[in-house]
Amino acid sequence: MKNLLKNFFIYFIAFLIIASLFSAWNAKSAKTEKVGLEFLVNEINAGRVAAIMVDGDKLQIDLQDGSQKVAQKESGESLSTLLKNFNVDNQKLSTVNIKIKDAGGMNFWLVNVLPILLPILLIGAFLYFTMRGVSNANSRAMTFGQSQAKEFQKDMKNKVSFKDIAGAKEAKEELQEVVEFLRFPKKFQDLGARIPKGVLLLGSPGTGKTLMARGVAGEADVPFFHISGSEFVEMFVGVGASRVRSLFQKAKKNSPCIVFIDEIDAVGRKRGAGLGGSHDEREQTLNQILVEMDGFEPTDNIIVIAATNRPDVLDPALLRPGRFDRQVVIDIPDIKDREAILEVHARKKPLAKGADLHKIAERTPGFSGADLENVLNEAAILAARKNEKNISLGDMYESIEKVMMGPERKSRIITDKEKKITAYHEAGHAIVAHFLPHTDPVHKVSIIARGQAGGYTLKLPSVDRHMHSKTEYIEELAVLLAGHLTEKEVFGEVTTGATSDLRRATALARSLITDFGMSDALGPRTFGEKEEMIFLGREIHEQRDYSEKIAEKIDDEISHFINEATFKAKKIIMDQKPKIEIVVKELLEKETIEKDVFEKIVGPKTA
Ligand code: ADP
Ligand code: MG
Ligand code: ZN
Repeated sequence: MKNLLKNFFIYFIAFLIIASLFSAWNAKSAKTEKVGLEFLVNEINAGRVAAIMVDGDKLQIDLQDGSQKVAQKESGESLSTLLKNFNVDNQKLSTVNIKIKDAGGMNFWLVNVLPILLPILLIGAFLYFTMRGVSNANSRAMTFGQSQAKEFQKDMKNKVSFKDIAGAKEAKEELQEVVEFLRFPKKFQDLGARIPKGVLLLGSPGTGKTLMARGVAGEADVPFFHISGSEFVEMFVGVGASRVRSLFQKAKKNSPCIVFIDEIDAVGRKRGAGLGGSHDEREQTLNQILVEMDGFEPTDNIIVIAATNRPDVLDPALLRPGRFDRQVVIDIPDIKDREAILEVHARKKPLAKGADLHKIAERTPGFSGADLENVLNEAAILAARKNEKNISLGDMYESIEKVMMGPERKSRIITDKEKKITAYHEAGHAIVAHFLPHTDPVHKVSIIARGQAGGYTLKLPSVDRHMHSKTEYIEELAVLLAGHLTEKEVFGEVTTGATSDLRRATALARSLITDFGMSDALGPRTFGEKEEMIFLGREIHEQRDYSEKIAEKIDDEISHFINEATFKAKKIIMDQKPKIEIVVKELLEKETIEKDVFEKIVGPKTA
């Protein structure tokens, strides 16, 4: 479009130059005196005209005395008929030398053709450039089918080795095998071993699946073709399948190599599930992937690595032997791995003395590798904004909370009344969390708004946990409800500040019954088939597999659990009222309380 405008501008300038030249040239003749036809006729009749030069509609008159006049005739009418109409003396006229200027000259072009041609030229040029723009887009559309697989071929700068991937020991061990296949295929073929065609990497978002695939390519020192499942789903039906074809063609030319299909669940969902449009397209794409994988020989030395965070929705056909028969699970890192990941990403960042990464690892249970990288990055940004030379422990603590709950909103103006309500609410959460035996210790209480929350209480497990008991969940419920209950106890009524607490509490209580089988009344079974369906971009969960009567019972049980938790929380709130008051006072003064100060007020946690 910019090009088009530029061209148009050039044409416009050229037009202006020609036009001005033309008018300057014209102006020369304008200097001679203009006369009417009447005058001309009179002069002819008087025999004073020597010659007339006809130049289009312009008559240039040379008089006997040597002077020159210009007259204008009607266009389209010839001079002779014109003069005849004026009753010119024919005899006198015959002495006049009449010359017709050659119309083929420059003048003719300028006068007659240019005014017609120029707009046509301009329009033509405009059309031409517009069409060219469109046809470019068209030819791009035509190459849609070609795979956009990016190559990270022997790219030394971007190369990832296993050293750059911290933790994930088991996954690396499994993949080391794949590296061997790619490096020494002959060793395995000689023994008649069937080299796996596909490896499926499973893990939550940000656990380093993409990184791991690149690590395998880097270790084996082979080309790496990367394409994301969502790239297959384009606006034209059939494009996905042809992309798969061209991707594998490219791979075959470059073998040994790795084809990496990221987010394969975008195309590899169970066929037949789901409503809506892109469904056929996905099916075709998936079929093509299966066809290609079945089609290449073990000697092709291509290994397909796919990644997904939704193994549950994958089509079983993908998981058949001969396809993605190796599955490597990449877990959310535990405390040791977290520290290692932090160390990898802290390599190029100057840390202040005492900025112990172990402490950061302790505070970040449940964080993925990507989250941890983000924590360090945010800490570096924070330190830079404070004009510090290196990153302190405080910067990192601050960024953990930012990553967890969004940035602090110190500027949000709240009234003293709101502040007081928030302080009681958070003190309630903190006190109940502290005095229940099975809850995680409180690390920080704050009434500074953060993300969506008006205030927050940060509690963190002292060890990584993978299992939870019913007692723990009930206590968790009590902590969730504590904010609401404290507000009610102190102010006699509640605010909207507890809405999300209540929503979470209700959802948790429901899970205890329907997912974890923790309700004695309903027994050890799950309720509701969590089925994956995409409709208008929304996932519709839960297929009811129970009766109305059971639904009623579930509702009763939810209330039962909530009541149990309320009872527990209330008891602590009543018993510990003086402590709540101290915490509130401290919060109103300082806005945040760290773990050590909090424990000075309430005593150490007894678990
Ligand atoms: P996924 O594909 O599983 O969603 P990525 O591979 O894209 O996750 O990981 C995102 C980023 O997180 C990586 O670029 C890397 O910087 C960081 N990361 C994740 N896991 C690790 C790890 N084990 N070691 C080092 N960095 C990691
Ligand atoms: Mg990824
Ligand atoms: Zn709350």
